[in-house]
Amino acid sequence: TASPVSTMNDDHTIPQLGFGTWQVEPDVAQASVAAALETGYRHIDTAAIYGNEEGVGRALAESGLDRQEIFLTTKLWNQDQGYDSALKAMDQSLQRLGTDYVDLYLIHWPCPANGLYRDSWEALVELRNSGRARSIGVSNFPAHLVEELVNSGVTPAVNQIELHPYFPQVELRAANASHGVLTEAWSPLGQGGEVLTDPTVTEIAEEVGATPAQTVLAWQLAIGNIVFPKSVTPERIRENWGALQVTLDEEQLERLTELGRDNGRLGPDPMEFN
Ligand code: NAD
Repeated sequence: TASPVSTMNDDHTIPQLGFGTWQVEPDVAQASVAAALETGYRHIDTAAIYGNEEGVGRALAESGLDRQEIFLTTKLWNQDQGYDSALKAMDQSLQRLGTDYVDLYLIHWPCPANGLYRDSWEALVELRNSGRARSIGVSNFPAHLVEELVNSGVTPAVNQIELHPYFPQVELRAANASHGVLTEAWSPLGQGGEVLTDPTVTEIAEEVGATPAQTVLAWQLAIGNIVFPKSVTPERIRENWGALQVTLDEEQLERLTELGRDNGRLGPDPMEFN
């Protein structure tokens, strides 16, 4: 099987089910990305701050796949924000990844207190124009900051945000969509915590004959999100890929979205984080 693809507002396509690499050491990243590629994943999500771009790059190089067959995302770290420093950070990421372009480059966090996201965005536009990034987008941007970039003239292709059944981000998804910005869901499995033992999740999993992780990923895909669950375990990497075979009905989707909690966030508040 191949993943379905979504079309971004710049007409490039992105595989909807990808593979995440946060908190994965470089050597382990190489092995797990290799296992993911073997399984069929063609979309890899990394970031400069993950410290594993070299391992990811080695797995891509040794896979025998053509570069064009892979969709590769990396991200600009907070301390590298600013016009010149963003250009330099991209060059360093490309060097570590062993490639001359990424498919998607993201501003990792807005860091509003630093006031550099606008300058950083201008650098990403330059990187797109020069072909070093095929598509550009943002991560952890609240609706009003997405809007600010839209009004500056170049709309981000995606906004990668924390999103799982305990934090379904119904409003921010709608705001993204209203600007033609695709939503990517980070920590799509709720980091493998309580979400996967939630009684509603396990009940629906039984109804459809899937595992809890597959059920949550099937919900993500059905509501239109792009996801890249992380695992370093080959069986789980394959299990998560199996979510492509799972179909949930409207009522099951609704029951999962209703699990949203006021304090469902696992990560930091993007307006506070630097
Ligand atoms: P996740 O929701 O993908 O959960 C991963 C964890 O879930 C694993 O460590 C494992 O413990 C467990 N797990 C995985 N598959 C399982 C299975 N089949 N059954 C049971 N448990 C399973 O969490 P994540 O890694 O935080 O998020 C995914 C990716 O999103 C990251 O790797 C990274 O690429 C990206 N991300 C981006 C940001 C950002 O700020 N942009 C922040 C966090 C994560």
